[in-house]
Amino acid sequence: MGRSYRTYLAGETVYVCRSCGNHLAVQESVMSKNFTGQHGRAYLCRHVVNAYTSAEAEDRTMRTGKHTVRDLFCRVCHQVLGWKYEFAYEPTEKYKEGKFIIEREMIYECPERKRNVDKPVIEVIQEVITSQVPVGRG
Ligand SMILES: [Zn+2]
Repeated sequence: MGRSYRTYLAGETVYVCRSCGNHLAVQESVMSKNFTGQHGRAYLCRHVVNAYTSAEAEDRTMRTGKHTVRDLFCRVCHQVLGWKYEFAYEPTEKYKEGKFIIEREMIYECPERKRNVDKPVIEVIQEVITSQVPVGRG
């Protein structure tokens, strides 16, 4: 297997893959929770990490009209999570382009806890750059 990167998110609530616990999105990136996926309720997200989209795009006709989409997969366990909107045929649906649908059924909400203990990886990197030694817990 090639190189693999994982991003660990920190926020009020982190959405993680239900089958493997991979971090996918933070609550702040959710634009709407009123979407419907293949399995019921779904979230429209501005930004998703640790996921990839299918190589082939396809047109799907939905309640809100025709869209070109790509399936969205978990980068760790390859579970289908939802899809990405590539193109919206209806002018009123253009805001969805480049955004992601994550099926509620495929994720769970992980409320952030232990904020002072488990620092997100990105903060640790910044401390290294500024030559400051992180305070350990002993
Ligand atoms: Zn997964």
